[in-house]
Amino acid sequence: MPTVNLITGGAGFIGSHLCEALLNRGEEVLCLDNFFTGRKANIQHLLDNHRFELVRHDVVNPIVVEADRIFNFACPASPVHYQHNPVKTIKTNVMGALNMLGLAKNVGARVLQASTSEVYGDPTVHPQVESYWGNVNPIGPRSCYDEGKRVAEALFFDYHTQNNVDIRVVRIFNTYGPRMLINDGRVISNFVVQALRNEPITIYGEGEQTRSFCYVDDLVRGILGMMDCDGFTGPVNLGNPAEFTIRQLADLVIEMTGSQSKLEFNPLPENDPARRRPDISLANERLGWEPTIPLREGLTRVIAYFEALLQQNNAT
Ligand code: NAD
Ligand code: UDP
Repeated sequence: MPTVNLITGGAGFIGSHLCEALLNRGEEVLCLDNFFTGRKANIQHLLDNHRFELVRHDVVNPIVVEADRIFNFACPASPVHYQHNPVKTIKTNVMGALNMLGLAKNVGARVLQASTSEVYGDPTVHPQVESYWGNVNPIGPRSCYDEGKRVAEALFFDYHTQNNVDIRVVRIFNTYGPRMLINDGRVISNFVVQALRNEPITIYGEGEQTRSFCYVDDLVRGILGMMDCDGFTGPVNLGNPAEFTIRQLADLVIEMTGSQSKLEFNPLPENDPARRRPDISLANERLGWEPTIPLREGLTRVIAYFEALLQQNNAT
């Protein structure tokens, strides 16, 4: 019998790539989504596969289904979207984790949590190692997401200790790739879309803050490696350790698109972390994982994706 995977947030950016990868392994996929930031278009090409099922459901409500493995990815990831309804973001993170852990406990499934580098907040340790406890503002504009994800991690480990639930926790650093929304609001999609439209590139602050960008295929390989790995709960960092300033990213996107766009400097959002770079020694040691797709190569694919999408939008 093929493994049955439940993927919450399966119609989202990362979730849809995960659905695809699991189907390619010959497994069954139950994709669950409330379509807040996910789209049917992301999984349209999977609908005809007899091993794929789609369920419209909100993870704040309990659900009973048979599954061997649960990937808990439901939660808007872009600051623009998770700050739109912060109370709902907290509910999604906390009640979603409770519901998926309860389900895993009842059906004996292995359950993986999509945690985030945001648990480190504005880090005082650089690069970020899993043993670092973080520097998070509990009452700022990002706290609905950061603290929601921190509670979810606590719940995962408490269910593991108290109820012996088979957990996996991955801390994902900025990931990009095809199927990000045009209006996603995150930096790579914003810059690429702005450059392709020859509109101003909106740099927040001076652009001296750094991020480390992981291409989605590398990330999915790491997630599957973690899910397949026995006897290792994590938390484990998954991200690309190559670190860039936002200004460098803007220059690279302009160069690669041959855009006429000019840089436009806007105020830095409150509590915007100054630096981000994963230490991936643990993932390397335990999973033999490291990213293989450099930023330039990943950007080539994302630029092609948005170019096609913008052309399609213009044509309709
Ligand atoms: P995304 O917004 O594209 O995907 C999130 C999906 O969850 C969407 O399909 C959305 O409709 C769905 N969703 C949201 N709330 C829901 C709810 N209450 N019930 C059911 N479905 C719900 O974002 P993404 O980038 O694909 O992120 C996926 C997961 O990975 C998120 O949990 C996010 O926190 C985590 N993550 C992503 C990144 C990144 O850089 N992309 C970094 C760290 C962590
Ligand atoms: N950013 C920017 N211009 C944009 C969007 C984002 O300068 O149009 C900056 C943002 O302030 C942050 C970085 O890029 O410092 C990454 O932002 P993103 O929203 O992609 O992710 P996160 O802040 O959650 O890492």
